[in-house]
Amino acid sequence: MPTSLLVFTRDLRVADNPALAAAARADRVVPLFVLDDAVLGLGTMNATRLAFLLDSLRALHDGLVSAGGQLVVRRGSWVKSVLEVASSAGARQIHLAADVSGYASRRLDRLRSAAGSRFEVITHPGVMVAGPEPVRPIGGGHYQIFTPYYRNWAGSPRRAVAAAPGRVRLPDGIEPGRVPELGEVRGGVPAQGSLRGGEAAGLARMRAWRAQGLAGYDAGRDDLAAGATSGLSPYLHFGCVSPLLLASEFAGLPGGEPFVRQLAWRDFFCQLLAARPQAAREDYRPHGDRWHDDQDGLAAWREGQTGYPVVDAAMRQLRREGFMPNRARMIVASFLTKDLYVDWRAGAAHFMASLTDADVACNQLNWQWVAGTGTDRQRHRIFSPLRQSRRFDPAGEYIARYVPELAGLPQAQIHDPSPGARLSRRYPFPVVDHAAAATAWRARTRRAEPLE
Ligand SMILES: Cc1cc2nc3c(=O)[nH]c(=O)nc-3n(C[C@H](O)[C@H](O)[C@H](O)COP(=O)(O)OP(=O)(O)OC[C@H]3O[C@@H](n4cnc5c(N)ncnc54)[C@H](O)[C@@H]3O)c2cc1C
Repeated sequence: MPTSLLVFTRDLRVADNPALAAAARADRVVPLFVLDDAVLGLGTMNATRLAFLLDSLRALHDGLVSAGGQLVVRRGSWVKSVLEVASSAGARQIHLAADVSGYASRRLDRLRSAAGSRFEVITHPGVMVAGPEPVRPIGGGHYQIFTPYYRNWAGSPRRAVAAAPGRVRLPDGIEPGRVPELGEVRGGVPAQGSLRGGEAAGLARMRAWRAQGLAGYDAGRDDLAAGATSGLSPYLHFGCVSPLLLASEFAGLPGGEPFVRQLAWRDFFCQLLAARPQAAREDYRPHGDRWHDDQDGLAAWREGQTGYPVVDAAMRQLRREGFMPNRARMIVASFLTKDLYVDWRAGAAHFMASLTDADVACNQLNWQWVAGTGTDRQRHRIFSPLRQSRRFDPAGEYIARYVPELAGLPQAQIHDPSPGARLSRRYPFPVVDHAAAATAWRARTRRAEPLE
């Protein structure tokens, strides 16, 4: 086989990369990444996320150099750039990872139709542990409920972990380009935090997590102050670490089962989005919600000024670190959609613009799950911020870390400061009364029948 083109998308790794392994069977291979102007222009590409992506590309380049190759980088229209590089390399085959979002599948369709009969476009697994195709209900379609999905997923056959290519040889005459600096892509905006992207950093985190965190995962994952989760989500989103590799390495270890189950949740939402791409924007199960247009409430929520300490701590962590643990994501999403009764799309958009791990499938469908428009059948469920706070941050450590004006308050007060403490510490009064909001929410769920 003469020359193949491998287009990296969000599979930025050399290990267990089926598309790369297939392309590298050719005599020559061009490993290409295109900084897609359409993606860079989206509000979701915040500076921290972009810095993580650029870091991951530099690491990928280093990984390819070790195998004798290098990363070829272009910026512009994705389809046009891919076809230009394929033509100038004399490639016949274009390999890439299959993906699940509406944008990814439209982009692939455009590539296929522009490639015509000149190039063969071949997709490979790699973004999920399994699927989406291998895990289907007997009657076809897609799974709408996690438990039966998980049962099938856990027993479904897995592809073999793909070996990293021994050697990557570029054809002559290809201009490699280079990975730009952050400031060249996004005029001088500083990135938050110091999380290193890339395969080596991701694998190091995976090993450290296996050695020190995994065994205590089930007991500690909801402890807000402890930070006792893997922190692997940005590496999984950009594919710096293979989800299949993680699942196969961790299965059977102490803590492995609950952890691998979370990877199944990720796959579950991916298969759901692949089957119903419009669920990124539209209610998966519409109930005729008439969301409040509460701009002040939304602003207070975004800024961490709701007067509910645990909600404010989480929202300020998001702003400061581009991260929030899962329990906190559920608390703040429930607060926005059920206490304030603001449309889940507003919250999801803020998360997409703020998270380093922002991921259309995991974000939009988790938001829908919490908002009661998604796959959770318990629509009447509403989290009490106070109860969640006392249970998952009993000593108020998480609150004190991110809401410093409340630090030093006694444990009995920090979850719900007295009026005097709020005034003296310049901490806001609650923007909404939770008990009244919960009553209104439950009345709404009793009235509204699914419109499907
Ligand atoms: C409202 C809301 C929005 C979310 N938005 C995102 C998002 O944009 N990107 C994202 O990756 N995750 C999202 N999640 C899921 C989850 O909160 C994060 O994956 C997790 O907090 C990341 O931290 P971790 O890697 O330390 O997780 P760990 O607990 O160590 O879990 C390991 C991996 O399992 C997967 N996972 C864990 N929980 C979930 C879940 N509930 N749904 C799907 N996959 C899961 C992730 O890939 C995660 O990295 C969201 C959850 C909620 C409730």
